[in-house]
Amino acid sequence: MDHQKLAAAKLWLISTPPPGAARRVDQPRDLPYLSQALYALIAVSDPDVEQMTCDEWWRVYINETWLDAATVPEIGAELAHVTWHLLADHAARARDQDVDRSTAKSWEQAADVTVSHTLAPDKLKPRRLPTAKKLRLPEARSAEEYFALISRLPPKAKDGEGDPGDLEPTDGCGSGADGLRRRNEYGPETDVGAVAKHEATEIRKQVAVEYKRHQTTRGGDPGDALRWVKQTLDPEVPWEPLLGGAVRRAVGWAAGRGDYTYTRPSRRSSSLPGVVLPGQHRPVPRVSIIIDTSYSVDDNLLARALGEVDGALMSLGVPGAQMTIYSVDAAVHTVEKVRRARDAKLVGAGGTDLRLGFRGVEAERPRPDIVICFTDGDTPWPSAPPPGAVVIAAILGRRGFSLPPTPQWATRVECLVDDRWAR
Ligand SMILES: [Zn+2]
Repeated sequence: MDHQKLAAAKLWLISTPPPGAARRVDQPRDLPYLSQALYALIAVSDPDVEQMTCDEWWRVYINETWLDAATVPEIGAELAHVTWHLLADHAARARDQDVDRSTAKSWEQAADVTVSHTLAPDKLKPRRLPTAKKLRLPEARSAEEYFALISRLPPKAKDGEGDPGDLEPTDGCGSGADGLRRRNEYGPETDVGAVAKHEATEIRKQVAVEYKRHQTTRGGDPGDALRWVKQTLDPEVPWEPLLGGAVRRAVGWAAGRGDYTYTRPSRRSSSLPGVVLPGQHRPVPRVSIIIDTSYSVDDNLLARALGEVDGALMSLGVPGAQMTIYSVDAAVHTVEKVRRARDAKLVGAGGTDLRLGFRGVEAERPRPDIVICFTDGDTPWPSAPPPGAVVIAAILGRRGFSLPPTPQWATRVECLVDDRWAR
């Protein structure tokens, strides 16, 4: 393969045009922010692709005949095109949209429209890439929005319907754009080389920082690329599944610990005369909840978080397990027994000292297996967890603000709401 020509195309993308040079159409594109991504690409010669495709492991499959005939700007434009598929993680996003063989084409169009939008201001858009205008779609939307819009259009005649299996090397831009493996592509484990998921994440962060800087000096409407920067540097992870997951893990831990009880005779006891074995049964975990009722805690957010805990317990078949709820600010106001966390009556205001709630928990008999605290985090904590209990600290706060630390012994889940005054 003509590696020199490929290197020249990468340099052409990132270099600054010589000062005083006339604004020629083929002058270097001055996009240094792309360099880390470009140099991570692994070139693979492949006569089966039309020009250039990419897979999820940052390999680019290049048709050498095309490479030999193409100009440096043409190769640069294709490199920028596939690089943006990889930076934008179109493969993982396609998977989130359940893109399959039958919808791959719509997704690729959707993804390509966003890439076109990003490349157009730098005159890098390969001619064959569709634009929003050409597809009569609104400008500067996300690939997901375009996918929804395109999918709603009447489907074209489907070829190969009902035939699963791999896509062809000539289908679209490669698995790097839609997460669907082509038959010419290597898997994750080969000696061809691969950019691992965590490496790709690092590259994306680096490029996002540099792209943001580039964009503030150049201006323009970055559309999906700006959303990409925001999402890459400050990912908005939905907290609900995290809190639900933490509760389910805690229950699993409490159940797996094997709680023995002598209340039910073991079925094996008859075979061992004279010996009473403990009967083992799935224990219903005992849950205690400490709620910070100071002013700074958002009531709506708290209600959603409590609902999430109820949902998680319900899904495990432990609904109606009796919970003890402590509503605490600078004093313990109420201690009540409820069957659903969201039934708690909350009293209080003012400063917080959750240690008071923990003191109540420590005195409980039988001891709780799981302690869940809901707080803005602005509180002193005890130095150790209650004996034998898993502690989940659900920190309720606003996105974009820094949140106080929690003790090492607690599983921290940040439950955040968007603050309309932030940013
Ligand atoms: Zn593409």
